[in-house]
Amino acid sequence: MVSRRYFPVSENQSRLDLFIDRMVSQRACLDYAIRQTAGMTGPVFELGLGNGRTYHHLVQHMDGRPVYVFERAVASHPDSTPPEDHVILGDVRDTLPASVERFGASASLIHADLGGHNREKNDKFARFVSPLIEPLLAPGGLMVSSDRMYFEGLTEMPLPEGAVEGRCFIYRR
Ligand code: SAM
Repeated sequence: MVSRRYFPVSENQSRLDLFIDRMVSQRACLDYAIRQTAGMTGPVFELGLGNGRTYHHLVQHMDGRPVYVFERAVASHPDSTPPEDHVILGDVRDTLPASVERFGASASLIHADLGGHNREKNDKFARFVSPLIEPLLAPGGLMVSSDRMYFEGLTEMPLPEGAVEGRCFIYRR
């Protein structure tokens, strides 16, 4: 499948189209990031559990690396609920800075899907959390996000085949 190029918002696209593009892109980017970091042993961080679909995908396809979930209120599908000792409960604006001491720059893969329906609010939040996420990523690690992020030292990567431009972003340290 060839990667499709879209402008961030197209008047021709329905909300269903946008949702499908986001889901397809999340899976393509997560699969790519899992493969690219397969030689690494550091933990994987899932920022925003929600229903737990992407958490479930990560756990299903992970090669033994622990997956820690950052979430303010766990309300996931029972099949996608992480063990308590792998949940870092609270607002990421507090838990990310607190985790730097515990984990250092060790994460092999960080996935963030923290946004809601308000694009402007999501962008403001992405600007705020980018410098909190950056110190947790190991050299060579990848960060996958549903929103554009604002990192100082990470490089934005081209999207893998099957992902839709603007619906997902990948960064490497
Ligand atoms: N990727 C998930 C899935 O596949 O089911 C969906 C994630 S959902 C869009 C976003 C999640 O991020 C929500 O569960 C919300 O509670 C969480 N979240 C949003 N802002 C947060 C914050 N500041 N701190 C912690 N969790 C947050």
